[in-house]
Amino acid sequence: MRDVLPEEARRWRYVETRLLQVLLSHAYEEVHLPLLEATELFSRGVGEATDIVEREMYNLADRDGEGLTLRPEGTAGCVRALLQHGLLFNQTQRVFYSGPMFRYERPQRGRYRQFYQIGAEAFGFRGPDVDVELILLGRDFWRALGVEEQVELEINTLGSGTARGIYRDALIAYLTPLKNELDEASQRRLVKNPMRILDSKDPATQVLLRDAPKLPDFVDPEGKAHYDDLKEWLTEIGVPYRENPGLVRGLDYYTDTVFEWTTRSLGAQGTVCAGGRYDGLVERLGGRPTPAAGFALGLDRVVLLHQEVHETPQRQGKNQPEPNFAASADVYVCVLKEALAGDAMRVAEQLRIGLPGLRIRSHAGGGKLKSQLKRADLSGAAWAILISEEEMQEGRISVKFLREERAQQSLSPEALIELLQKQPES
Ligand code: ATP
Ligand code: MG
Repeated sequence: MRDVLPEEARRWRYVETRLLQVLLSHAYEEVHLPLLEATELFSRGVGEATDIVEREMYNLADRDGEGLTLRPEGTAGCVRALLQHGLLFNQTQRVFYSGPMFRYERPQRGRYRQFYQIGAEAFGFRGPDVDVELILLGRDFWRALGVEEQVELEINTLGSGTARGIYRDALIAYLTPLKNELDEASQRRLVKNPMRILDSKDPATQVLLRDAPKLPDFVDPEGKAHYDDLKEWLTEIGVPYRENPGLVRGLDYYTDTVFEWTTRSLGAQGTVCAGGRYDGLVERLGGRPTPAAGFALGLDRVVLLHQEVHETPQRQGKNQPEPNFAASADVYVCVLKEALAGDAMRVAEQLRIGLPGLRIRSHAGGGKLKSQLKRADLSGAAWAILISEEEMQEGRISVKFLREERAQQSLSPEALIELLQKQPES
């Protein structure tokens, strides 16, 4: 598990804030859910024969012996919470959550044991319009972050439960004679969860799968109509997609649409957001049959992607410069004389009110101007504010440009605010 230190956390905060703004702009409602749930919730809600439940969960015993698990994903807990509070009864819901998930995996770039997801789920909608809505949320995410060029949408359909039952049997019939050539996990899954084999990362297994029966050939007419509508809407709205018949969720309760947003910019860990329809889950967790669809976005990977694309700060339209992630402050307020400390704090407050997007740090700890300017420089700030007794009396303050060849200026606080508002950030 890793630590996110200030320089990375600055970018992290920026990315997360923008993503949450997009969810709020679509009128999704936030929920806060526990990190610990009963182990049983995940064995039922994620599925026994999945990587997650088979070998990735952090399990622990409560003091009274109850089996608990650090949540490996958010959907099961979200469904549990809404059911428990009666929020799925005779109503629709659109909710989102964000926070850490835990899986025992081999850590590498883009894959961690504590990682962060933003999840969104919509309950009570049967048609593909909500699938489109969830995909549009994704498109708006990438636009808000300026990474839309790097991300691609892949879609597939699983069809209805019955259609998949028939496909499942066909897949078993095809793979059983080849059993000994499959990787070990796939051999086990052949009995328990054969569709998950399609997800295998083993190259030899992938070769065998080339001639396997293909899921789209088995999709029922209703499932096909749902999928055709989805594709038509995407085309109409102008969201490019690529059909990938190999895209699956191996679990029984997944139905119809599945989608992934992928990027080539992050090597092997290329899926930044994955989702689909899971009409069977609510019932499986004890509720009435309820259509549902959602996605989980991998925040760690999206932050990495943002960093790849925006190594240096970009302006993102009027009045919205991307913050300078290399700096810990934008403005550094110096105190020329101990006796002026109170004035300096007052000026700093005035600037914070007038310049809400900027980070304004007040010097603390005394010392000569020279050492204060050194601190200002180290902070990465673009501007130092100097306050002298004379200027205070005249209602003026000085600004020193730390990153430009430009003469110091003496201005009223109002004029200074106006000046800094107009500046593209350093
Ligand atoms: P993968 O095939 O990469 O293991 P997954 O199918 O296990 O992904 P999901 O359970 O669908 O992933 O989770 C949704 C998203 O969460 C992924 O697309 C990815 O962006 C992110 N994610 C999943 N596991 C991790 C991890 N260990 N570290 C960082 N991000 C992760
Ligand atoms: Mg995984």
